[in-house]
This record gives sequence, C-alpha cells and structure tokens, in this order.
Amino acid sequence: MASNKPSYLIIGAGVFGVSTAYHLITEHPDSSVTLVDRDAFDAYSRVAASWDWNKAVRADYGDIVYCQLAIEAQDVFKSDPLWKPYFHETGVYWICRGEHAQDVINNYRKLGRKADISAVPIDEARKMYGGLFEDADYAGAKEVLVNRTSGWAAAGDCLRAVTRKALDLGVKYVTADIASLQIENDGRCSGVKTAKGAVLTASHVILCTGAFTPKLLELSAASSGRNDLRAGSRIVAGGITTGMATLDEESYKKFAAMPVGFQENPTDPRTGPFIGSLPPTADRELKWWGQTIFTNTREVVPGRFISAPPAEPDYAQWKVPGKLKEDIRYSNRVFYGNKGATWKMEKHRICWQVMHRITMTI
Ligand SMILES: Cc1cc2nc3c(=O)[nH]c(=O)nc-3n(C[C@H](O)[C@H](O)[C@H](O)COP(=O)(O)OP(=O)(O)OC[C@H]3O[C@@H](n4cnc5c(N)ncnc54)[C@H](O)[C@@H]3O)c2cc1C
Repeated sequence: MASNKPSYLIIGAGVFGVSTAYHLITEHPDSSVTLVDRDAFDAYSRVAASWDWNKAVRADYGDIVYCQLAIEAQDVFKSDPLWKPYFHETGVYWICRGEHAQDVINNYRKLGRKADISAVPIDEARKMYGGLFEDADYAGAKEVLVNRTSGWAAAGDCLRAVTRKALDLGVKYVTADIASLQIENDGRCSGVKTAKGAVLTASHVILCTGAFTPKLLELSAASSGRNDLRAGSRIVAGGITTGMATLDEESYKKFAAMPVGFQENPTDPRTGPFIGSLPPTADRELKWWGQTIFTNTREVVPGRFISAPPAEPDYAQWKVPGKLKEDIRYSNRVFYGNKGATWKMEKHRICWQVMHRITMTI
C-alpha cells in the first residue's frame, strides 16, 4: 500500500538544496527526504556555485528584504554550533560610488538592528586595516561602507558538514544526473527521470538546481509538452570568473585578518556589477571574483535558445579563457594596486549561478 506520509525529492545539493533537506528532516523527522545531485557531496570537484573555498556572508544589501533575511542567516552562522565553526566575522570594506552605504545603514536602522556599521570618508578609510586598501582605485568613490559584523564562511567545508548532518538525521543522497521532470496529465510533478532512464518519485519535488534550472525546465517542457514550465526571462544562467593567488608568509600575516573587500565597478559604476576580494584561506590563498558576467546561449531543444552552463559534466569550469583571467588581474589592481603587482594568479574557475538579470554577455 502506498504511504500517505509526504516524501520530498530535492534536486540539487548546493546550499539551497542542503538547507531545505536539513530543515525538512528536522521539522518532519518521519518523512522521506532525498537529495539528488550529479556530483557526490564529498567529491574532489563539484559544479555547485555553493562549493567554493569561501563566500562572503553579509547583510549589506540595499534591498531591505534581502538585508533582513541575511541578518537572520548571519545570526544562525554566529550562534548555531553546526554553522559557527565556518564563519569568520572579519567585516566588509565596501568602496561605494553610489548610495549603497547609506541604503544599507538605513536598512539596518529601519530593521532596528544595532551593528558596528558606518560610512567612512575615503581618506580615513584608506588608513584602516593597516592600510591594506590604501592603493585601491577610489576614482569616483563617495565613501566606504565598513560593517564589522559581516564576514565570510568556508563555503565548501560548511556545505559538507551540513550535508553530513542531514544524512545523519535520515536524509538520503542519490548521485544522478536528472534529465527531466515527470509531469502527469493533470499537470502534477510526480518525480524526475535520470539521464540513465530511472524514474524517482515523491509527493513533493523541489528544484534547487542553480544555473542548470532554466535548461532543466526547458527540457521538461519539451518532454511533457507543457510550455508553461519554461523559465522564460525570469531566470538566466550566468558565469563569473574567480581566481586565487598564494601569498608569501609575510603578505599572509598582513592579509590574514582582512575584511571582505567589495568595489562597485570602477569601470562603470552605474551599470557594472560589483567585484570582490576574499581573505586568504588557511592555505594562504587570496581570492577575487571578476567584473564580467556572461551567458552561454545555445539551442537546447529545436528552436529554443537559452543560456546554460557548458554541457561537459564539470561545466568546463576549469577551462578559463585568457580574457576572463584578465578580469582577475583587473580586480587585483583595483583592490591592492602595487601591493599585488607580483602575485601570481592561480586556480581560475568559472562559477555558474542563476540570476535575474545579466548585465553583460560575451
Ligand atoms: C563568482 C561567484 C561568487 C559568489 N560569491 C558569493 C558570496 O560571496 N556570498 C554569497 O552569499 N553568494 C555568492 N555567490 C552566489 C552563491 O554562490 C549562489 O547564490 C549559491 O551558491 C546558489 O546555491 P544553489 O544551491 O542555488 O545552487 P548551486 O550551489 O549551484 O547548486 C546547484 C546544484 O544542483 C546540481 N544540479 C543541477 N542540475 C542538476 C541535474 N540536472 N541533475 C542533478 N543535479 C543537478 C548541481 O550539481 C549543484 O550541486 C557567488 C556566486 C558566484 C558565481
């Protein structure tokens, strides 16, 4: 006899999928919760945007809803023993060319949240943190947002730890590539079909497939004949380059406790995305992400062109063209000037994520 208990298939084991699985099994310990991902959770290399050496954990958003949600998440990072070991409250140092600093400070005020946060004049900011950012590009900058309550997390380590915890609590993990959703005649999604033809079913199917989502929906629309499944222009897969340099011992000592650096794009602050630099890992690797956000638009099914990560199993994430590597050199220059002139850039990666808006294509 079929069970009446709810069952959950969560496709994608990045931060959204794993958090969802963890919360579902915590709230409903009797239910069946299964995570499905094309990569093993402890694989040496994964395509998930969430799988990374480090990520900024900040509530410095101009949008008050994002700000509130991120403050809640930060509180969990700072207090819950599961997440706490991975969080580093180093602060953020955000070179602002528009109203961002004031918007964030106003959001904190409106939310009644007290924090060590301020908009610092450029001359004063340059001297902070032992002058680490004194040679940054401040052209057109108005002020620097310094929020000492933000920071960064060891993203990959944290993701593995929370996945292990979810598995301990009873979540199942299936490694499989999902080819399409199974849509019934009444429009209900009853499961998914793997690339090898196996069908997995559940009462609830939750997609947390990141950058692959628009393609998966397009393939599912084609196989089910339901065009309303298509993502349309709501979400787009975009790639951004990251790069790292290994610091020598002396530089590492200077940079080890640095805040996360952000810059509203010096090239075009009105439309350009922001770029960033994350503090060095325990292996002394300092990281940047670049300014170019690009799409990879291909014919996914006859007559349907959408952006998706490259078809290779690893999204070709380690094959980074010279033009994109230049993005990282540029980020280095506008953050550290001469200080970083001799650093050798290594470990370039293209990180694919789903976005609402893409500002550039290449
Ligand atoms: C360069 C860069 C820097 C960023 N920096 C930050 C930062 O500092 N702070 C921050 O908060 N955010 C940052 N982000 C954003 C953040 O990484 C993403 O918002 C977040 O990781 C998305 O998580 P996710 O779970 O939705 O997707 P992902 O982490 O991409 O996970 C999706 C998972 O779905 C799986 N999957 C997809 N399709 C299928 C399929 N068909 N079958 C099986 N499995 C499938 C993939 O294997 C993957 O594991 C950054 C993003 C980029 C690109």
